[in-house]
Amino acid sequence: MFHVKHFDVIVVGGGHAGAEAAAAAARSGVQTALVTMRKDTIGVMSCNPAIGGLGKGHLVREVDALDGIMARAGDAAGIQYRLLNRRKGPAVQGPRTQADRKLYRQAVQSLLAQEENLTIVEGEAAELIIQDNRVIGLRLSDSSELNAPTVILTTGTFLNGLIHVGDKSHSGGRVGDKASQTLADQIRALGLTTGRLKTGTPPRLDGKTINWSILEMQPADQDPVLLSFMNGRPIAQQISCGITHTSAKTHDIIRQNLSRSAMYGGHIDGVGPRYCPSIEDKVVRFADKDSHQVFLEPEGLDDDTVYPNGISTSLPVDVQEAYVRTLAGLEEVRILQPGYAIEYDYLDPRGLRASLESKAVVGLYLAGQINGTTGYEEAAAQGMVAGLNAARAARGLEAVEFSRSDSYIGVMIDDLITRGVTEPYRMFTSRAEYRLSLRADNADQRLTPKGIEIGCVREQRARAFDVKMGDLCAVSTLLKETRFTPKELAEVGISVSKDGSRRSGWDLMAMPEYAPTVLDGLIGGLASHDPGARRQAEIEALYSQYTDRQEAAAEELRRHEAMKIPLSFDYTALSGLSSELTGKLQRRLPETIQQARQIEGMTPAAIMLLIAALRKSASDRKAG
Ligand code: FAD
Repeated sequence: MFHVKHFDVIVVGGGHAGAEAAAAAARSGVQTALVTMRKDTIGVMSCNPAIGGLGKGHLVREVDALDGIMARAGDAAGIQYRLLNRRKGPAVQGPRTQADRKLYRQAVQSLLAQEENLTIVEGEAAELIIQDNRVIGLRLSDSSELNAPTVILTTGTFLNGLIHVGDKSHSGGRVGDKASQTLADQIRALGLTTGRLKTGTPPRLDGKTINWSILEMQPADQDPVLLSFMNGRPIAQQISCGITHTSAKTHDIIRQNLSRSAMYGGHIDGVGPRYCPSIEDKVVRFADKDSHQVFLEPEGLDDDTVYPNGISTSLPVDVQEAYVRTLAGLEEVRILQPGYAIEYDYLDPRGLRASLESKAVVGLYLAGQINGTTGYEEAAAQGMVAGLNAARAARGLEAVEFSRSDSYIGVMIDDLITRGVTEPYRMFTSRAEYRLSLRADNADQRLTPKGIEIGCVREQRARAFDVKMGDLCAVSTLLKETRFTPKELAEVGISVSKDGSRRSGWDLMAMPEYAPTVLDGLIGGLASHDPGARRQAEIEALYSQYTDRQEAAAEELRRHEAMKIPLSFDYTALSGLSSELTGKLQRRLPETIQQARQIEGMTPAAIMLLIAALRKSASDRKAG
């Protein structure tokens, strides 16, 4: 029997948003309850067994900078670290690891168990208790009640969830879990704007029936970059993934059976994730390609289940069985669990404040897939914001907000609450105006001080951060204060113009011919500093020369917001604009740059293109 009934914050859902929200609220020092349908599914990865990636890795680091749990759980389960975009600049590199599903779930549960102010309640949230437009608690399906001035809903794909495999469908929150029906009915009755979205997952394969010997294997990075700022080395054993490809035969089978796919057979109303298309989508949309790469990712160290990344599907089971066996290495494969699609309700995020509190119901917060996003990392980042803010509201404090210039968290929340979604939203670095300064490597420098100020960063991290900043400051000062004449530089093979001016070590780092080892020889004592601090100083020095340019570009965007766009403007003539954005602009016909910026999915780079084209056509008209 459950006795304590009053809390400051109630979180509904134990997925990625819910776990992070509950941890953030509890860490902030308020009594928190996490209500979830099944305790043992807290921290379950519903789809791919991986954390991080491009854009997503930035969010994980930001959550970590605020002392959240996702990066630490990811590191406890990390079985294949790969830094994505390693050859490109640090601003667009994305830390990622494949995760052992079981270890990840265990790590989330154990991190939550350490939270003193957190009580886990197993049960189904049936109804919000609302009085005078203010949430005051939650009723569970067994009729018990919990009271709190704030409730955070993080119910993922569970609201009115409908699972589809071919032409068969049944109600469900994800495979093996029931949907959340009564809560969905209440939300609709409250008049909150809802919509329908969909997503899908591939079949899971039995690794024992895969012919690994003929497959190309992709190993983990030799010098792994971990997710959390608090970790230096992988904890779990590192493994390789297999790589295979679909073939013309695969595509033939899919094409012949398109009408039997839930997505194409007219059984699904919701809009799916453009950036994570099903194999049916890929075959139709990229009809000229006769092969797609598929990663075969083991789901755990002591688990034979394999996740084939790239072939999510809602085709019937017999078709799934036929097409997977046309991929090299999978000729004899056994499907352990068929792929499926799920359709679910989401709430229009334009009904939220930047704190993620509902504008319509005081004390009600929403985070995660319920807001129209997709992905564990997007969910966790919103959970963090909602958890911090619900805790602050319960204590009578002002909301803490994140801006587009301090974090990807700020970019995502601003995108969601101002533009809304028409398809599942996922993070990309191209969404940020300030991407040169919003890097994964400096998420702690950007956010940990804010976290310390608002009291969500624990002492151990605060101390580690102080040490890191002390080292970084020492290296940066040494670099800035040690200067060299052109002659001294020429002697070590660095040629600069002989203008008599001395260059500092800091200046040298931004030069293409500079090599880090040269500086070690030139500056006494530099080599004795922590290698991490030296590398960080190198990145800071490199990017410091661009920050003015970045600020000027952001200012340019702001300055042109009132610029008019003629109705007759030909968007198809804009080279460099994606067909997705061209289509959206043609349909919406924005009248000003400001309106164009509000279009969902619009990137700063696309707006700059548009401004340049409008300016050119204005000057052509003048000249004519
Ligand atoms: P979830 O992780 O879904 O957690 C929801 C939680 O709420 C669960 O713990 C559930 O038990 C609980 N809950 C729900 N209703 C109630 C209630 N009434 N009472 C108590 N507890 C409740 N993401 C990608 O990035 N790429 C993909 O390709 C992708 N494919 C997906 C395919 C499928 C089939 C599914 C289901 C998800 C997929 N996702 C994908 C999405 C990813 O799993 C989610 O974005 C992420 O898990 C969302 O986190 P969340 O915390 O919002 O919700």
